[in-house]
Amino acid sequence: MNEFDLIQSYFNWEITDPSIELGVGDDAALFNLNPGHQLVTSTDTLVEGIHFFKDTSPSDIAYKSLAVNLSDIAAMGAIAKCYTLSLTLPKLDKKWLEQFSSSLKESSKLFHVNLIGGDTTKGPLNITITMMGSIEIDSSIKRSGAREGDDIYVTGDLGSAALCLKKIKEGDKPSQIELNSLNKPIPRLELGSALRNLASSCIDVSDGLEQDLSHILRASNVGAIIDTNKLPLGASVNNYVKDTNDWSMPLCGGDDYELCFTAGQSMRDKISALAESLETRVTRIGTINSQKELEVIGFSGVRSSYQHF
Ligand SMILES: [Mg+2]
Repeated sequence: MNEFDLIQSYFNWEITDPSIELGVGDDAALFNLNPGHQLVTSTDTLVEGIHFFKDTSPSDIAYKSLAVNLSDIAAMGAIAKCYTLSLTLPKLDKKWLEQFSSSLKESSKLFHVNLIGGDTTKGPLNITITMMGSIEIDSSIKRSGAREGDDIYVTGDLGSAALCLKKIKEGDKPSQIELNSLNKPIPRLELGSALRNLASSCIDVSDGLEQDLSHILRASNVGAIIDTNKLPLGASVNNYVKDTNDWSMPLCGGDDYELCFTAGQSMRDKISALAESLETRVTRIGTINSQKELEVIGFSGVRSSYQHF
């Protein structure tokens, strides 16, 4: 099977978005943006042995490749539209490709995005997706907008994916719920898009809260204080922290793909109402200040930066 046949067989699906004029099959794809909108684009690569285990199912790999890219679009407050896929495969494994492509197709439908092009090469397994979305001009949420006095929020809960990864590495068997937190992150697309009128800055938490919040602080030239007593923790992370007094998972663990954002105090009611209407946990965890550093209070114990693998 050559590259053309492979793409035709596994990655040429019907386009469901009428603003996409040309999808897979030509030299390049063509799509239209609504007037007054700008293109938002982001790319992320997942590499076997670095971002996922060798035995991770092809369907989980496909879902996660899409989800992590969607999470970046959500963090800008944009609407995701379409993507390209660059797939490097060690060998032509039809069973693997079938599972990967059917999960990618299903996930694309779930998140209303279309595959519009891509490339395949032979080599160590890695998946690069470039996601494209759109947003009204001048309404994206950048990292640089946090101001002194703003509240700091985070969606969902923190540390579950990192704790799951730690368990696997230590030979423990995580529960299905824990595995889902690692393999099935939920990109906060609706919430992100609604935040474009409420939040002053936003980032998705992919490398751990401390590190990602620090990106906001640096870009905005401000500092912050966060209280660990306020951090949203799932049941297993909560138990783990209680048992060990180790805060590395919620503070430094990666792979949460939750949104961390700031907003003026006058937005509190609107943000609560939004969280309720989307049935999404949104927790206020601290405040932006003028100190040029991130102060973490309310905990004694250890925390160390947690690395992938
Ligand atoms: Mg990001």
